[in-house]
Amino acid sequence: MFLEQFPRDDKPHGWIEVICGSMFSGKTEELIRRLRRAEFANQKLLLFKPKLDNRYSEEKIMSHNGSSFEAMQLEKAKDLLKHWNKEKIVAIDETQFFDMDIVEVATTLANKGVRVICAGLDMDYKGIPFGPMPYMLASAEYVTKVHAICMSCGVPAQFSHRMANDDQQVMLGAKEEYEPLCRFCYNKIKHD
Ligand code: ZN
Repeated sequence: MFLEQFPRDDKPHGWIEVICGSMFSGKTEELIRRLRRAEFANQKLLLFKPKLDNRYSEEKIMSHNGSSFEAMQLEKAKDLLKHWNKEKIVAIDETQFFDMDIVEVATTLANKGVRVICAGLDMDYKGIPFGPMPYMLASAEYVTKVHAICMSCGVPAQFSHRMANDDQQVMLGAKEEYEPLCRFCYNKIKHD
């Protein structure tokens, strides 16, 4: 399990943590776990999500002690810096849907001493690295890859197989259209 550090006043440099994996791998749960622990450590934090049209989503993430983490929704990654008010922790969920500027934004914050935690899908349903994620992974100090369980054979899964016929990379609000598969089972379906 990832054991985190916390930003220190005597060390001005922050860092980037990435939590990545397929759908149903527990990325957001791991993000919430880290945010709760940050809360116990009395760290001020901000949580962001990309703003996506026609997608219903619950923007509040409840914390252990009853308070909640409100996710601010942004259309552009660059807007994130306008909302940052020297909080020591900045968390980003669904990082893969942000534009490429999110990598520069995360780097800028880390350089200013912020602990930046990014959660997101590392690959799309075709198995291709998703949006800014490969660059974020390369820029990060710490990377945690979490795995779902293969719905076909029960071993750890890293692919999000789309069961519906739709070529859009971003298919919104349709979690039930996907299933996590391991490499073997994913390749078997793809080549059938
Ligand atoms: Zn499998």
